[in-house]
Amino acid sequence: MAISSLEEIAKCRRLVVKIGSALLVQEGEPRKVWLASLAKELAETRANGTEIVIVSSGAIALGAARLGLEKGGRASLADAQAAAAVGQIALAEIWSEGLGEHDITVAQLLLTLEDLEDRRRYLNASATLARLIDAGAIPVVNENDTVATEEIRFGDNDRLAARVAQAAGADGMLLLSDVDGLFDRHPSDPAAELVELVETTDDEVRAMASDNSGSGLGRGGMVSKIQAAEIAQRAGITLAIINGTHEAPIGKAVEANCGTIFMPQRSDSARKAWLGGRLAAGGTLHVDEGCAKAISNGGASLLAVGITSVDGAFQRGDLVEICGPDGARLAQGLSEYDAVICRRIAGLREDHQAKILGYAPRSAVIHRDHMVML
Ligand code: GLU
Repeated sequence: MAISSLEEIAKCRRLVVKIGSALLVQEGEPRKVWLASLAKELAETRANGTEIVIVSSGAIALGAARLGLEKGGRASLADAQAAAAVGQIALAEIWSEGLGEHDITVAQLLLTLEDLEDRRRYLNASATLARLIDAGAIPVVNENDTVATEEIRFGDNDRLAARVAQAAGADGMLLLSDVDGLFDRHPSDPAAELVELVETTDDEVRAMASDNSGSGLGRGGMVSKIQAAEIAQRAGITLAIINGTHEAPIGKAVEANCGTIFMPQRSDSARKAWLGGRLAAGGTLHVDEGCAKAISNGGASLLAVGITSVDGAFQRGDLVEICGPDGARLAQGLSEYDAVICRRIAGLREDHQAKILGYAPRSAVIHRDHMVML
């Protein structure tokens, strides 16, 4: 039975709690009283048998204040990287002190997007998380902003948290926000209503979070929270967005039963869930109607004959997206061929492919074992 209430999430077996910069840092300084109240809650939750992983932002905000950088350290990538390098030390200290009060040992993990996109590195991070939790520590994770480049980075800790939850084998996630959850329209609109439960994240739900609806803007806003929820849903993790602004925010949200819960949609195998949560596709395979149907309905492998065009410059084994004739993203998976060969064999049947390749082609361009529906 899937977890379906805030109370259950707060009591789940393994919980990832994501805390944003705005909650942790005010005018360049940590919000100490608030932090102590959260640390106490987390310690209690852990004492009651829930294993905890924290994903904490705040490095850039803390570091920018210490270095006197403008725009909160986000004026340029170099500023953000410098700020993160300084602020991360402070952040680690805050958590180590806050949880140390409750005799909890804290471990710092700084991850890049690539650490979680590459299967071998992902499994490595996953094993480290498991070992730390087993050994009784609380891992505190952040993106390694100091080395992450503009192109290859999460940029927001919401999606990072969802990927970490997958890697940690968590069953619940809490995203602490500065609003009560997802609203059906801009929260400043008096008619706006809190959406309590999201079974399926469809276009309607995405539109509620879009910049147009205004409920979330920019980094770490509602848009990235919805993207995180989609990763979690696919991985069989129940995620909730709750208001983190009050002291002891988790208890408060549970008591008031106030927040937005995203129900897990399916529980893919661990490998498929990892694949489905990957973010950096190297290219796109556009397919015809028949192929799109076969993939959507029957979970068929993607055959070259159904490919109409190929975008991008990917290598064999890279992640690529599959788009239907209407341009909608259907699935993603690992390509058996690089982009050049994909272009050459697109639209061809097996005997034709053999002539072009000079060898017997693989059974599919993307095998269904290496493909997940989106
Ligand atoms: N990793 C960034 C930091 O520690 C924050 C990213 C975000 O705002 O979600 O400052």
